[in-house]
Amino acid sequence: MKKINYGKILDDKIQELKTSGHKPSLLLHACCAPCSSHTLTVLYNYFDIILYFFNPNISHEEEYLYRCGELKRLVSEMNMNINIIEESYDPAPFYELARGLENLPERGERCRKCISFRLEKTAEKAKSIGADMFTTTLTISPHKDCQFINQCGGEISKIYGIEYLYSDFKKHDGYKHSVELSKKYNLYRQDYCGCVYSKLTKNNISAAADGGDKI
Ligand code: SF4
Repeated sequence: MKKINYGKILDDKIQELKTSGHKPSLLLHACCAPCSSHTLTVLYNYFDIILYFFNPNISHEEEYLYRCGELKRLVSEMNMNINIIEESYDPAPFYELARGLENLPERGERCRKCISFRLEKTAEKAKSIGADMFTTTLTISPHKDCQFINQCGGEISKIYGIEYLYSDFKKHDGYKHSVELSKKYNLYRQDYCGCVYSKLTKNNISAAADGGDKI
């Protein structure tokens, strides 16, 4: 199937907003501070952003709170006027959706369900607070399936009746920029995606190899 250029779709949307002067409210699901850094620089001038930290996949609570704390610190140090909605830590729904899929590799069915769940909750929250649109920082990761994330967002958008902002935040050297911003703000860059299964995989790999980041 032909790949869709979601980076171009985002560029066109931003151009449209620049021309109209309209600034919609956007609930932006944030997985962590490093992925949010570049994403915020792209969106900040064109959307009224509210960040949404909802990541029941993260293991364990200490890690969850630390990633959320880094997100708050980043927003504060970037001097951005952005509220953050932080959900309390409850991994039960993640373990429920991951049952039977524990041993699958990343980008498999467990990840699709994990991403779909977080997007659906973001749409639900966006609807409940009256936001115009929703999206996620997840498309900045070279480890994630950008086509799937956007298709999923589009489908959820129809179900909830709220516009999804298509994106590929890797475009325009987005991932590289996020690494630079992480250095600039001395952000914690985790070396596993988030769940205990990705942590176990990372531990097995790093026992044999590099230990580089896995954002
Ligand atoms: S590897 Fe990442 S995307 Fe996949 S299930 Fe675990 S936390 Fe979710």
